[in-house]
Amino acid sequence: MMKHCCYDAIPTSCKLVVFDTDLPVKKAFFALVANGLRAAPLWNSKLQRFVGMLTITDFINILHCYYKSPMVQIYELEEHKIETWRGLFFFRYAILSVLSSFLPSFLPSFLHSLFEAVYSLLKHKIHRLPVINPQSGNVLHILTHKRILKFLYIFGASVPKPRFLQRKVQDAGVGTFRDIATVQEMATLYDALSIFVERRVSALPVVDEEGKVVALYSRFDVINLAAQKTYNNLSMTMREAVRRRRCFVEGVIKCYPDETLETIIDRIVEAEVHRLVLVDRDNVVRGIISLSDLLQAIVLSPAGIDALFS
Ligand code: ADP
Ligand code: ADP
Ligand code: AMP
Repeated sequence: MMKHCCYDAIPTSCKLVVFDTDLPVKKAFFALVANGLRAAPLWNSKLQRFVGMLTITDFINILHCYYKSPMVQIYELEEHKIETWRGLFFFRYAILSVLSSFLPSFLPSFLHSLFEAVYSLLKHKIHRLPVINPQSGNVLHILTHKRILKFLYIFGASVPKPRFLQRKVQDAGVGTFRDIATVQEMATLYDALSIFVERRVSALPVVDEEGKVVALYSRFDVINLAAQKTYNNLSMTMREAVRRRRCFVEGVIKCYPDETLETIIDRIVEAEVHRLVLVDRDNVVRGIISLSDLLQAIVLSPAGIDALFS
């Protein structure tokens, strides 16, 4: 991962949608839906540079902050431009990016290695990292945990597997096992958004009264509210929200404490999801193993770096 640069993990061809910060915020979220995207870099035409990212988390923050009731339109969502939001507290960073070194560059290679990209994603607890051409300043691609793990998975097939992949989840300690953020199926969608905002987690196992997992609701699923124009009704129950969303994953993708890390990696790569829900044999939630945990364990921990918990 230290030797490969970000350019190596970029697909040969893909679509990149950029939003001008003059765009009304509602149009921007609708455009994400229309293009089947999860995030877009923000371009400020006055400054002539990229100034940040717009992600589903921003949509959640806006809804959570300004929602009043199903009867009241969210004026701020209807009227404001992206630029207006940027003046508020929602955008944590100007833009975090990595440089693509497909052209020989005078910058030290560490700066644009995939290792550096993983470190940046985990350290800043973000899920989108634009790769920038150092010469033109253009965004070439947006790297994600999924893309990097896929690259590692394909590339890793030609190198010997580390022995720790044979360890069981419960012994390896890879994942989060305490204080798991969950949401009851009879709680409201607004309750779920509050948990997303307060805990900054990427997904919530939806549980019944006994703590058994019945579904998974991720930040990504919230964009369905824009797709279906139902963001004015956050009083619906989670059961209803899960029923209404358009989701290509069937059931909950889970894992068990006695399964090996290798089995887990195979499952998460194949399912193309960001995390597995760790359950016991009674289907009660015991933990979360996300791509962040796996990348920390496979890429950063062997180098003695702890970005996730530092
Ligand atoms: P999501 O999981 O919804 O895609 P992220 O976890 O990536 O969202 O984003 C969390 C917050 O950080 C959002 O407000 C988003 O605008 C911001 N953000 C995400 N990636 C970057 C980046 N590369 N540079 C600057 N800000 C970013
Ligand atoms: P992203 O690509 O933005 O990281 P996610 O993997 O969080 O997206 O979610 C993509 C879709 O997969 C969502 O509809 C989400 O509900 C679903 N999903 C994610 N993880 C799981 C899981 N462990 N079990 C079932 N569905 C999942
Ligand atoms: P993620 O945002 O999914 O990449 O994960 C970042 C960290 O948060 C990882 O250590 C995950 O195990 C942890 N995490 C993710 N979802 C939850 C959750 N619902 N409850 C507690 N921790 C979580």
